[in-house]
Amino acid sequence: MISFSSRWVKVCFGAITFGAVSELVYFTYRKYKRRKWQTNQNESESRKVTEEVLFFPDDRVACKDYFVGEDGCNNNDCRFTHFPNSLSRLYEFINGAKGRLDVCVFVICCIDLADLLIAAHKRHVLVRVISDGEQTEITGSQIWNLRKAGIAVRTNKSSFLMHHKFVVIDDQLLLNGSFNWTRQAISGNQENLMALGNKRIVSLYTNEFERLWNAFDPQKNG
Ligand SMILES: [Zn+2]
Repeated sequence: MISFSSRWVKVCFGAITFGAVSELVYFTYRKYKRRKWQTNQNESESRKVTEEVLFFPDDRVACKDYFVGEDGCNNNDCRFTHFPNSLSRLYEFINGAKGRLDVCVFVICCIDLADLLIAAHKRHVLVRVISDGEQTEITGSQIWNLRKAGIAVRTNKSSFLMHHKFVVIDDQLLLNGSFNWTRQAISGNQENLMALGNKRIVSLYTNEFERLWNAFDPQKNG
């Protein structure tokens, strides 16, 4: 009798242990599957984030009208290229702005790029420009044209350079690199421009733009 009940205790204990282990294995398996699914989701989301690099110089200057003009290019003798290149991609990025364009670039002399800022301003995108104070005085600077069009431009008064070359588009896309907005940078110099949609990186640059925008407020600094 004693050995019978002892056997039953063993059987019951074994069954309970087996049940507990099964549950544990099942939960561990579900947890693993869920984590793997989340990792896959994160990876597929990060794959959608823009990550591009544009290298300059381009062989030829891209035709702004052809790539982003409302009516395309109607010039049969157009001297600009209609083949996609780094500048045409930059046109597309800037022209794609829906609500906000924060431009923080050392030198802005390229008429086509300045025209895209003015066009964005006209379609009610909030365009703000920070540039280097001394560079606004150089031949070909488009800063005065931007101001004439009603775009707010702020510059540093310090003898140190405002040497950034970055743009934040709609708080979602960062363009950053060595690229100044000059003809020489487009078709002469070795330059790079990264386009990044990484939220954390973009927000760091948005913060830097706001910091400089406040620091260069002419009302604060006379
Ligand atoms: Zn053309």
